Amino acid sequence: MKLFRNARVIPYLTEGFSGSLADLLVEGRFVKAILPVGTADCPEETEILDLHGKTVLPGLFDLHMHLYFSTEDFHVLGAKSQNEYVFDAIRYAGEFLRQGFTTIRDCGNVFDIGIALRDAVVAGTVPGPRIFTAGKCLTPTAKGNSTFPNLYDEVNTPEEILKAVRKEHAKGVDFIKYMATGSVANLNGEPGELITTRAEVFALQAAAESVGKYAGVHCHGKEGILLCAEAGIRTVEHASMMDDECIELILRKGGKTSIVPTLDPVVQLHRGHECGALPPALFRKIDQVYAHAADLVRATRAGVLTGWGTDSSCSFYARNVGYEFDVRREVGYTNEEILKQATINSARILGLEDCLGTLRAGKLADLVIVEGNPDEDILAMCRYPWAVYLEGRRCY
Ligand SMILES: [Zn+2]
Repeated sequence: MKLFRNARVIPYLTEGFSGSLADLLVEGRFVKAILPVGTADCPEETEILDLHGKTVLPGLFDLHMHLYFSTEDFHVLGAKSQNEYVFDAIRYAGEFLRQGFTTIRDCGNVFDIGIALRDAVVAGTVPGPRIFTAGKCLTPTAKGNSTFPNLYDEVNTPEEILKAVRKEHAKGVDFIKYMATGSVANLNGEPGELITTRAEVFALQAAAESVGKYAGVHCHGKEGILLCAEAGIRTVEHASMMDDECIELILRKGGKTSIVPTLDPVVQLHRGHECGALPPALFRKIDQVYAHAADLVRATRAGVLTGWGTDSSCSFYARNVGYEFDVRREVGYTNEEILKQATINSARILGLEDCLGTLRAGKLADLVIVEGNPDEDILAMCRYPWAVYLEGRRCY
């Protein structure tokens, strides 16, 4: 048993307790109770940690990252060996955990390393966060797919989609990743351009459902977002060029579709950071996407369930702790919206809200202990947490 004394908790991320200072009791992998300070009745051998008012958050979620994405230099990235990708992935997963992200979703990868790493973490072979992974990114043949060798599996008819989905399912993926519009990062890709058809998006949804999975679909452009909403796709990745028509359709379809913005690289490049080896055309595309950031905020406030994603390289991510928190603040989200997106909203998108996403007796004890009050100043999230617990076990 562990007792976290004088834990500052945030009311909208804490269930079954009113107040802002608590004693948090953890038994094994679970939160046992959240109690007024000084009232916990626990056995003598209980390990007691006085937090002196540090804030305790539920474990954070990142629903859009790529485990092998070690560097923003795409030439270096594409030239790495399979073995190098594996070690890079272990490092990147560890970096997420260190920043308090106890659940991550790997949105497409090379050589199925996400599957191998997920299973290795479960087996205890290497430490890491809880991983949900797609295998390859399924995509229509489109401009710039060769930018990322081994990442894509090109599928060009509903039949090919069904076959590829079955293949991914057989490998043991958690969900299916698909590309419906052009990409910012793909050389010559046009983010606004639809690269699929209505029949293919519906075939994807049906194929994923038939194997008990869901699809996460990359869409910057509006036409792609509309098709996904119409087909009932679970997550629209990036969702950059949202407008009222998209919002209205998502809501009319009962909110089956959620969005996972990934503002980190957009704002990073817009601010002119890390230009490095990137081609100038990329900056034009970034500005095009950045111009729509306010539309994402509007979609969220209209009721579109909005999760957390970053889509950054490990190299940038590790040097800029909590960058996405700062970026979401910059585009107009409130602290409460930001904190919910990184916790309970993302848990809901994955269907994990009964065991994760808030602090509540009976939920898994994924705890992120931070100095400062992120509900008042979100930049408190731009430092490494003071401690991170995954299912009751201290990781950092
Ligand atoms: Zn991505």
